[in-house]
Amino acid sequence: MSVRDKEKIFLSPPHMTGNEMEYVQEAFNSNWIAPLGPNVDAFEKGIAEYVGAKGALAVSSGTAAIHLALSLLGIGEGDTVLCSTLTFVASANPILYLGAEPVFVDSEPDSWNMSPAALEKAIREEMKRGKIPKAIIVVHIYGLVADMDKICEISKRYGIPIIEDAAESLGSTYKGRQSGSIGDFGIYSFNGNKIITTSGGGMLVSNDIESIERARFLSTQARDPAIHYQHSQVGYNYRMSNILAGIGLSQLKVIKERIKQKRTVFERYVHGFQGIPEITFMPELEQTYSNRWLTTILLQPSRGPGSPSYILNKLRDEQIEARPIWKPLHLQPLFKKMRFYTHFNDKSVAEGIYANGLCLPSGSNLSLIQQRRVIDCILGCFMLRVKSG
Ligand SMILES: *Cc1c(COP(=O)(O)O)cnc(C)c1O
Repeated sequence: MSVRDKEKIFLSPPHMTGNEMEYVQEAFNSNWIAPLGPNVDAFEKGIAEYVGAKGALAVSSGTAAIHLALSLLGIGEGDTVLCSTLTFVASANPILYLGAEPVFVDSEPDSWNMSPAALEKAIREEMKRGKIPKAIIVVHIYGLVADMDKICEISKRYGIPIIEDAAESLGSTYKGRQSGSIGDFGIYSFNGNKIITTSGGGMLVSNDIESIERARFLSTQARDPAIHYQHSQVGYNYRMSNILAGIGLSQLKVIKERIKQKRTVFERYVHGFQGIPEITFMPELEQTYSNRWLTTILLQPSRGPGSPSYILNKLRDEQIEARPIWKPLHLQPLFKKMRFYTHFNDKSVAEGIYANGLCLPSGSNLSLIQQRRVIDCILGCFMLRVKSG
C-alpha cells in the first residue's frame, strides 16, 4: 500500500453519536429554524446543570462568548487585560475587539497553564505603570486545569475578575468543581475539533444571572424593550442556531463517555512510549481530573530524529496529523508590542514548551489500529536516533 492510500488520521475530528439528526429533525418539524428555540433553551439548561453554573447563554462561538464576558466587565479603550500566553489566538482577540490591551502571562512547569507567580508579578508591574488590569483570562489548555486556588486568591486580593477560557476543557474538574464554573465567567467552545461539537458554537456561563441576561441582550443587537426597534448601545448578533443546539444536545448526552475515550487514548500513548525516557507528558495537577482533550508530549531539545520537527515531518509523511504546541501569543507578530511576564526571572516556560512539545492525534474515535500507527511511527524515529548515535 502506498502512503497516499493510507487512511488519514486527524488530530481531533468530530465524533458524532448518530442521534443528532433526531433533534435537528425536530427543529425542522416545528419550524424553529432560527437563533432561538427549544433546542437552544434545553442546551443552555443542560450545560448549566452539567457544569454547576446558575446561568448559561448559547452563542455562535467560544470567541463570541469571551467578547461578551469582556463587554460585561466594561472593558474598553485603554484598559489592560491579563491573559495566558500559551493558548490559541481566540483567547486574546476579543481584547483587541474592544480596543483594550492584552498583557501576557507565562506558564508554570507544573501545569503548563498560567503561572500564579508570573500573574502576581504582572499585576504589580502593571500597577507601577499606573493601571490596574481589568480582567484575567485564564486558559485551561488541552483540557488540563490551571492552579485555580492560587489564581482565585490573587484575583480576590487585587479585586480583578476572572474569565475562564474553558474552550478545551469542558468536563475537566478542579477539586470537584467543573472548569469554567470557578471564575466570574466561563466560556466553552463547540467547534468541530472540541470534546463535543455543534459544528461551531460556544457557551457563556456564570452564577451571576443578571450578567447572563445582560449578555443575552447584548448578543441580540442590544434591542431596547420597545416595539419599534430602538437601540441605545452597540450590540452583537451572537446567538446559537436552534438547529446547531440540537446537535449539541445529543453530544452533551455522551460527554462522560467522550472524556473516558480521550483519557484512554492518553493512557495508550503513555504505555506505548514507556521505553523512551526522552518523551514526557503534560502534567496533571493533583486533585484535578482532565478531559485530556489532546495528548501532548514534551521532547528533549535535540536536532535529530528525536526532535519535534523531525517527528512532525515523519508523521505527516505517514498521513498522520500532529501539531506543535500553541505558539505563545507574546511571540505572535500580532502581539509583538505587548508586555509579557515570565515565571522564572531569566526564561519563559511557555517558550520552552512550545519549542519542544507536540500534540498527537487524540480523537475520541481514534481506533486502536490507528493509534498503533502513530505510536510505531514515533518509536521508529527514536530507533533511528539510537542507530545514528
Ligand atoms: C477553540 C478555542 C477558542 C475559540 O473557540 P471558537 O468556538 O472556535 O471561537 C478559544 N480558546 C481556546 C483555548 C480554544 O481552543
